[in-house]
Amino acid sequence: MNAPLREPTFRESVDIMFNRAVKFMDLSPGLEEKIRVCNSTYTVRFGVRLRGEIKTFTGYRSVHSEHMEPVKGGIRFAANVHQDEVEALAALMTFKCALVEVPFGGSKGGLRIDPREWEEHEMELITRRFAYELAKRDLINPSQNVPAPDMGTGEREMAWIVDQYRRMNTTDINAAACVTGKPLNAGGIAGRVEATGRGVQYSLREFFRHPDDMKAAGLDGTLEGKRVIVQGLGNVGYHAAKFLSEEDGCRIVGVIERDGAIINDKGIPIEFLKTHIGATGGVKGFPRGTYVEDGHKVLEEDCDILIPAALESVINLGNAERIKAPLIVEAANGPVTAGADEILRARGKVIMPDLYVNAGGVTVSYFEWVKNLSHIRFGRMQRRQEEAQNALIVNEIERILRDSGATMGISDAFKSEYVRGAGELELVRSGLDDTMRTAYQSMREVWHGRKDVEDLRIAAYIVSIGRVAASYRSKGL
Ligand code: NAD
Repeated sequence: MNAPLREPTFRESVDIMFNRAVKFMDLSPGLEEKIRVCNSTYTVRFGVRLRGEIKTFTGYRSVHSEHMEPVKGGIRFAANVHQDEVEALAALMTFKCALVEVPFGGSKGGLRIDPREWEEHEMELITRRFAYELAKRDLINPSQNVPAPDMGTGEREMAWIVDQYRRMNTTDINAAACVTGKPLNAGGIAGRVEATGRGVQYSLREFFRHPDDMKAAGLDGTLEGKRVIVQGLGNVGYHAAKFLSEEDGCRIVGVIERDGAIINDKGIPIEFLKTHIGATGGVKGFPRGTYVEDGHKVLEEDCDILIPAALESVINLGNAERIKAPLIVEAANGPVTAGADEILRARGKVIMPDLYVNAGGVTVSYFEWVKNLSHIRFGRMQRRQEEAQNALIVNEIERILRDSGATMGISDAFKSEYVRGAGELELVRSGLDDTMRTAYQSMREVWHGRKDVEDLRIAAYIVSIGRVAASYRSKGL
């Protein structure tokens, strides 16, 4: 197959990938179309009085599929957000949730704004007004439509949104579940901030458990010492780079940001670079590496693993032929266009697809939503009981060792590690790890089990679309 001459848009790319996948499936044309299309998009234009005048903002909330409710998807704040992008992102949410067996439909929101242009109190006014517009139409609602953070938003915005919803729904006992990614003190859950980056790490760990898969990418060994380039040191990229380097021994040899890139073959200390970006606004001037002004070019540098974690369409017809990394891990949504995808596959590259790799965010959002609805912290009932049970075992073993005259006992380090009951953070990590492993295995079964399926992305779509189709069928469609 030849690569398309014109670069497909993000939305077209998602459709092309969907269409490639359904060719391997036995769906009726009607059901296929029902699953592909975006059910609805609400566009809102609202005014806020700022700096002595009324400023008008444009926002969107798209619902791609309501085969399960609530529908779920982040809210993005970016200057170039548009309807097509939000609809593409909403479609990805449908397939992502299905892939990781999170019982939600797909949705997404966007507000056309550059958050860096506004003061915090101004951002609060704008966010609250946007939330009001969405909530009064049930486009924010614990049982129908539950947003979360995405590019340009985080805990702060989610705290404003939940507070706004509460003011409008004073008797809703489940109000906290109207949005996820909230701070802990506003109904959030331990481990949500880093969940997407943590999920990227878990997805790579799972990939590296399968020698055949590594071989397909021309890699071997473990994550230890692997050279990684990351684009975007925001929420997702920062956490992924931090965990991979600090816990798995990866060497981060390149970081690409808005103002350029830093490269260093010996490895870039991520915490130090993050502090530098916080203080100066960019990577330029960072003392522990070489600055490259044309950061985009660094995507083409030699490395083992390339992690685009910023924007869509950054790997496209213009650079796909020059990408050297054998393994591309899509931490961002839609970083590889459909045209580039075809070129990269023809060149034998392995792509771990966005709908799998960055699903850690929505997975932990699901845990947060469940926590909010159950009104109790995970682990609160059983943690101490678990500790008491474990202590019983350890004490008994120690008694037996003592009575039998053994010269060695159980070390204090093992004892405290073993006895400790799981708190919320441990349970969230365990649930996330299990989710990422299980989802990988379901993709992998299709990838290796069917001779006609060449890549993980199409395998992921086949699994997801199959689940969405089953859900529609059970509703009689
Ligand atoms: P973020 O706003 O926290 O970070 C984005 C980072 O990318 C920032 O550091 C920014 O400076 C950088 N960036 C922006 N333009 C760039 C450019 N042209 N070149 C290089 N770097 C650039 O956003 P995020 O939440 O980390 O989201 C990143 C991606 O991950 C998006 O595609 C988003 O949809 C996806 N995602 C995020 C989550 C989440 O939980 N936050 C979940 C799933 C997917």
